[in-house]
Amino acid sequence: MQCCNLHLPNGAEFFHKTLIYLKPIIDNHGRPITYLRLAVTDRCNLRCFYCMPEEGINYVPKPHLLTWEEMERTVKLMVQMGIDKVRITGGEPFVRRGMMEFLEKISKIEGLRQINLTTNGVLTAPLVPDLKRLGIKSVNLSLDSLDRQRFFEITRRDEFERVWQTFEALQAHQIQTKLNAVVMSGKNIEDLIPMAELTRTHDVSVRFIEEMPFNGEGQHQYEEFWSHRRILEELKKHYPGIYKLPDPPASTSYNYQIPDHKGSVGIIAAFSRTFCGTCNRVRLTPQGDFRTCLYGEAALNIRDLLRQGLSDEAIQWRIQETLQHRAKDGFEAEAKRSTGAVSESMSTIGG
Ligand code: SAM
Ligand code: SF4
Repeated sequence: MQCCNLHLPNGAEFFHKTLIYLKPIIDNHGRPITYLRLAVTDRCNLRCFYCMPEEGINYVPKPHLLTWEEMERTVKLMVQMGIDKVRITGGEPFVRRGMMEFLEKISKIEGLRQINLTTNGVLTAPLVPDLKRLGIKSVNLSLDSLDRQRFFEITRRDEFERVWQTFEALQAHQIQTKLNAVVMSGKNIEDLIPMAELTRTHDVSVRFIEEMPFNGEGQHQYEEFWSHRRILEELKKHYPGIYKLPDPPASTSYNYQIPDHKGSVGIIAAFSRTFCGTCNRVRLTPQGDFRTCLYGEAALNIRDLLRQGLSDEAIQWRIQETLQHRAKDGFEAEAKRSTGAVSESMSTIGG
């Protein structure tokens, strides 16, 4: 059977014609897929220790990157399939020229309920009023230390001040802010409590993240790995009254409240992978790879389909079909890799 330039298997024609009624797409493990993480570039103006080597990574050649128009079309197609939340990430989204115009365009897509951003904050402060105007409700700001020297040692760039200005601008414009800190032995353990203290006076969610081996080199070796359990133990030592908050559906963080603090604290078991059972997210990399799990390999390249001239319906069919072969969890996805252990930089995938 031929449909939309594609040979579809038996029974697929019926499904293909009814695709628009089956929202959101449910994967082969019964999980609804509603959340796209879109990495708009692999370029970055920092060199975070946990994300890439000091000398940087080999960037994807420009012609291989998705264009803004290709990204906009892909987002539209996915929204038609039930995606209602998109997170823009990278690399650093704001180093790619045209980022604000792209945001403006996708903010008009009907059915896209929420657009969030993850940024390192170096270039973001002056753009915060425009983010507010475009209806961006929540920004994840990466900040691994409140100490300028430690910040420099982790990111290899002396940019603490500009990142802090972004934090202040987000607060001033009442954009919901989550501070993301990767917790690393010998790098920023001294920052755990000062960062948790920020929640005393600021309505902010400070999230401590287990380090993953997505750094362009492979797993870092430590005497002590700071797991989600270890992080919680440390917080409990200083805040014996800390208590668990209910976690929103499909949340990746365990959320906690320190009594009388304005904000909250989250812990993300990114390496322990405790949240896969409710995973509702898929990723699109800057070169158009569609990843159904962070730990897995690309399942499909959407840029190639777009450039081959496939129809909207044919591309949607390929996406739907790919989602029926999703790994149960990050461990299964990692075990199925043909290229060996995880080591690619997070900036090429979109964290
Ligand atoms: N450049 C932006 C930023 O830093 O916020 C967006 C991209 S960055 C890859 C997205 C998130 O991934 C950041 O919060 C960063 O801390 C996190 N990340 C990067 N590498 C990581 C790793 N190896 N383990 C855990 N988190 C990581
Ligand atoms: Fe750049 Fe973000 Fe990676 Fe740091 S974590 S190097 S800011 S992409």
